[in-house]
Amino acid sequence: MELTETKTDSGRPRAKGRSRPVLPAQVLKAFGPDFLDACLCRDWLLERLHPTGPVCPWCGMAITSPRSRATFRQLGRVQCTICQKFFTGLSGTVLSKTGLEPQGYLLLCLLLALGQGDQAIAGKLNVNRETVRRWRLRFQALERVWSEKP
Ligand SMILES: [Zn+2]
Repeated sequence: MELTETKTDSGRPRAKGRSRPVLPAQVLKAFGPDFLDACLCRDWLLERLHPTGPVCPWCGMAITSPRSRATFRQLGRVQCTICQKFFTGLSGTVLSKTGLEPQGYLLLCLLLALGQGDQAIAGKLNVNRETVRRWRLRFQALERVWSEKP
């Protein structure tokens, strides 16, 4: 990349058709779940929630039909061929009945991990502050439980 910046007599850089810089505070302000790739977030999360592949959360039967597996991957409703109950890829997981999309969930996790406050996170996810506080407590409890497992 060729730099064409020249200095004025005062020593300040002179912009020649340059675009404005995009600064960190501006990115933080604008960033939200929509900046994340929905399919990538969904696939990444499903692989971690179901490391051995899709199974019925009610009876534990593996989902083998290609059509049901595809529906499961799209977070659609699947019916178990054994127990006949319905479920999705999020049933019985940490995201069950939370109303959070995978993108929102990953952004929530990322902002919590980066030490952002409840109010700031609530604004990003368009949820109320109490919801974020409850997630924070829930994650702390989960970390305690899972850190005790071998
Ligand atoms: Zn089942």
